[in-house]
Amino acid sequence: MTISFALGPDQLAVKDAARQFAQQRLRPLAAAVRAEHDPLARAQLARAPFEEAVASGFLAGLIPVQVGGAASSGVDAAIFVEEWATESPDFTISFAGPLIALTPVYEAGTPEQVGRFVAPFLVREGAPVAAMAFSEPAGSANYAAPAPAAGIETTAVVDGDHWVINGHKAWASHLPGWDGDGPDLMTIVCRTPGGVSVIVAEREHLAGHIEVEEYYDLPGLRGCLTARIRLRDVRVPLDNLIGTEGQGIELTRNAFLASGASIGTFATAAMRRTFDIAYEFARTEKRGGSVAILEHQAVADILSDAKGRIEATRLLSWRALDAVLSQAPNALELALHAKVFGSETGLDVVNRLIQAVGVSAYDNAMLLTEQLAHVLAYPIIEGSNVGMRRRQLQELLLSASYDPLSASGLS
Ligand SMILES: Cc1cc2nc3c(=O)[nH]c(=O)nc-3n(C[C@H](O)[C@H](O)[C@H](O)COP(=O)(O)OP(=O)(O)OC[C@H]3O[C@@H](n4cnc5c(N)ncnc54)[C@H](O)[C@@H]3O)c2cc1C
Repeated sequence: MTISFALGPDQLAVKDAARQFAQQRLRPLAAAVRAEHDPLARAQLARAPFEEAVASGFLAGLIPVQVGGAASSGVDAAIFVEEWATESPDFTISFAGPLIALTPVYEAGTPEQVGRFVAPFLVREGAPVAAMAFSEPAGSANYAAPAPAAGIETTAVVDGDHWVINGHKAWASHLPGWDGDGPDLMTIVCRTPGGVSVIVAEREHLAGHIEVEEYYDLPGLRGCLTARIRLRDVRVPLDNLIGTEGQGIELTRNAFLASGASIGTFATAAMRRTFDIAYEFARTEKRGGSVAILEHQAVADILSDAKGRIEATRLLSWRALDAVLSQAPNALELALHAKVFGSETGLDVVNRLIQAVGVSAYDNAMLLTEQLAHVLAYPIIEGSNVGMRRRQLQELLLSASYDPLSASGLS
């Protein structure tokens, strides 16, 4: 049997629709975000294109077909994410909140919970946002560490027929929602008497119980609405617990699988954008010499090496997202490699391309330093490579059943 990597007509249509929206709506958004200094005002600029994207059905494209959405293939998702992230990775991250926040619901929610929690994201109007409230200001890499380590510090205790949740959360996109009264849905990783657990809070439970302590001012991904918040006495019905008490470690890990794999695609987008700028510069600039700098082999080598690594990262990310969305047994290893290899390759390639351009790249107007700031985030977001992702890879290597060929299905 042969495997074709040629895109089919449906995938080409996804690419065309995503690229058109990205160029028409996200390119001007990125310019506006660049000019705005206040982090909250910057994030609010996304609201109008967000509503348009929802009305155009892009949000349903992130919800699996099995629960009423339109997401059917990991490769389609990667194509869509790459097109958007090439123009605005921050918008793409904000928009994709449900991709992470709803994953524990798909995995362990009851049919009633799935129907209730997915519903706001299937309506083609407004700007519904979801937050995966996992990270905490005091650290997240050791969230599963047993006592006496602090691990997850947010707590939920039973009071009558409600959970009462208190603690601090940080970093997740849209923790405060558009107006500080919370997102439409917040998936909260917290400590209950039975261990680390996952509880979903809806906006009606959050309003009035969120204190925004700081809006983060990020060096890259500047349109992301990230903040440190305090959850104070958030009362949520008992039946908003997802799965069972103590299942939170496993649910949290799995929630970040698709988003981890997608980091390879975000890195691909940053490399692609940087390559385009550097290639144009190298083809047209002589820098006082007699030929375009691309005719110097040292410069051409940087560009061709970059191109090879872009192709490799793109294919690995397609493969990883395909495995995650189809729940293949090799999904974990592929997703971890797409995250670690993709993010670190992206950072290195952008840095090398900047060196090919030379000092002109250091002018912010060339937008290469902006790509560097974006790609600097990828090894440390969605679980840092050092603190979380390489530890997961080590666990795989240490497992008695590890087979190096299984990731490629060649065992
Ligand atoms: C734009 C953006 C969006 C984000 N979106 C979300 C989101 O939706 N939801 C969410 O919950 N978070 C989100 N985050 C946070 C992000 O996912 C982080 O990766 C996460 O908080 C974990 O950070 P960390 O691994 O650096 O953990 P930390 O606990 O802060 O660890 C810091 C460092 O300590 C070291 N370290 C700690 N423990 C160990 C150990 N046991 N072994 C080895 N090294 C160790 C490592 O060097 C590690 O990198 C976002 C962040 C940004 C910037």
